[in-house]
Amino acid sequence: MDLLYRSTRSKSEPVRASQAILKGLADDGGLYVPELVPGLEKSLEELSQMTYQETAYEVMKLFLTDFTEAELKDCISKAYDDKFDTEVIAPLVEADGTYYLELFHGATIAFKDMALSILPHLLITSAKKNNVKNEIVILTATSGDTGKAALAGFADVEGTRIIVFYPKNGVSPIQEKQMVTQRGKNTFVVGITGNFDDAQTGVKQLFGDKELADVMDGAGFQFSSANSINIGRLVPQVVYYVYAYARLFKEGKVEKDEKINVVVPTGNFGNILAAYFAKNMGIPIAKLICASNENKVLYDFFETGVYDRNREFVLTSSPSMDILISSNLERLIYLTAGADADKNAAFMSALSTVGRYEITADMRAQMEDFYGNYASEQETAAAIRALYEKTGYVIDTHTAVAAVVCGKYKKETGDNAKVVLASTASPFKFTRSVMNAIDKKYDAMSDFELVDELSKLANVKVPRAIEEIRTAPVLHDTVCDKEEMKAVVMKFLGI
Ligand SMILES: *Cc1c(COP(=O)(O)O)cnc(C)c1O
Repeated sequence: MDLLYRSTRSKSEPVRASQAILKGLADDGGLYVPELVPGLEKSLEELSQMTYQETAYEVMKLFLTDFTEAELKDCISKAYDDKFDTEVIAPLVEADGTYYLELFHGATIAFKDMALSILPHLLITSAKKNNVKNEIVILTATSGDTGKAALAGFADVEGTRIIVFYPKNGVSPIQEKQMVTQRGKNTFVVGITGNFDDAQTGVKQLFGDKELADVMDGAGFQFSSANSINIGRLVPQVVYYVYAYARLFKEGKVEKDEKINVVVPTGNFGNILAAYFAKNMGIPIAKLICASNENKVLYDFFETGVYDRNREFVLTSSPSMDILISSNLERLIYLTAGADADKNAAFMSALSTVGRYEITADMRAQMEDFYGNYASEQETAAAIRALYEKTGYVIDTHTAVAAVVCGKYKKETGDNAKVVLASTASPFKFTRSVMNAIDKKYDAMSDFELVDELSKLANVKVPRAIEEIRTAPVLHDTVCDKEEMKAVVMKFLGI
């Protein structure tokens, strides 16, 4: 029997996994949620003997039930290969009594690679299964990180093309260099003379352009999105929590069934929701600790039951968490509302009209396993420095936010359960903030000098992703106004 997926916003017909992956968002604007979270079928002893790829198959087959064994294994082996710089894919590193789950060993040295390296394969397999003959064209607006991770994931994947729009003067020099040097004949990177909102609005218009959709269909193309709400991104993220626990057990770090806590630096709420799914599959996770930066909407939400986006947006040193609307939270709202789509739709409608909603006491009670807190900019920098001075281990700013919150939780509760902390980016990705946290003297150095200095200090080789952009040739130099986006897309597709 297939596991089916329902929209969080209406009682429309449920769909199979491959259909949910193809659609991304449901027609009513809702997110797809599995009708139930499947339990693990293998024992901890068995899981502890598995490679990352084998674990991925064990977990994903329970969610993506309309994929054949051969299809899913093919997707997994194409995703988790030597694009990662370590065979274990997601290493666990112990520092100062915490287990850092390093999710940054993929092509763009951040955790988005964990899902975006497999999504393209899940997507084209889903297209084949549903007799979609068109080539899939991924269209994305990016403020930096997701664009590069999507480009790296889709580059040279047959049956797909990817077009990324970024604000020409709105990303860091390293981020821009990463994108414009992207290889792959199916990739196309365009700078917009405008800001991120212009790029995003333009992309949304293209998605909604019926006339363009018809012309594209005639020429054998259709748009799709690599957005973080796609279940094809959520499901692969469940894998590493199962894998991490099995590794701890294998290495004798936890007893069988010993409960651990998980700490996740959170923005869109996708990563921590994956941990929640892992817990519901049977992994003994006690607390799900949600760490925010100064954009602490989620902390306030877990404290009060009120989600309120009406506040100032703060630019922090952990930019991938600078978010005021955590889209994946909608899935938790729906589930704790008793899988009641009408109730959830009312909350989401309040969020889009007045920017605020308040959940019921009963729903809050069901979120008891979540704990939220946040880190200030100062606390974040201090945590990087303190951990480095104590252990020599260097973490990035996002991971440091989680480290601060982990400390606050322990102090507040006295809970000393072992902790797996999701380490979401390599310190080489946010070198300047990291080095400045360690010592202000580094601020005078150039970006690449800082990279070399960090390598010496942390005793870690400069990651390939950074090495490459030092010398890689610029392959994309298209710049356009937002009014020209449609023309640019049509030209790239040759229509
Ligand atoms: C995207 C991202 C996050 C936030 O993850 P969510 O799933 O959106 O909560 C945290 N850290 C880094 C480095 C990221 O790129």
